[in-house]
Amino acid sequence: MSGTDEDAFRIIASSPEGVLQSELWKILGVDSRKCSRIVKKLLDSNRVERVEYRQEGIKTFRLIARKGPADPYCLLAGDELIPCIACDEDCTIESCNDLLDWMYQLAISDAEESSSPSEKSGE
Ligand code: SF4
Repeated sequence: MSGTDEDAFRIIASSPEGVLQSELWKILGVDSRKCSRIVKKLLDSNRVERVEYRQEGIKTFRLIARKGPADPYCLLAGDELIPCIACDEDCTIESCNDLLDWMYQLAISDAEESSSPSEKSGE
């Protein structure tokens, strides 16, 4: 893991109960000082909250992601909007071909996005 602010936020947001700061730096693969700087940035930008927590008598902090407005880009697979937005069908999500097609498009666009930086750099 590269240890960026965004990596830290994703780890924190992936757990509804949050992540202990004393564990976060190990997960990120950075030292505790760098982790403190990352956490400060996330606190300053109001993306996470910090709650005091005692683990075996030792004070640490639990970091919990704040819920912000939904990211509209989460509704897009490439240029394709998720079909549920304008759907008036009786929903059976497990067998919905429109949703399956969209998820397939999402997988393709994610793969293209992750491969594009190395293509640009010529690697
Ligand atoms: S899963 Fe399919 S049927 Fe259900 S709301 Fe989305 S598009 Fe409509």
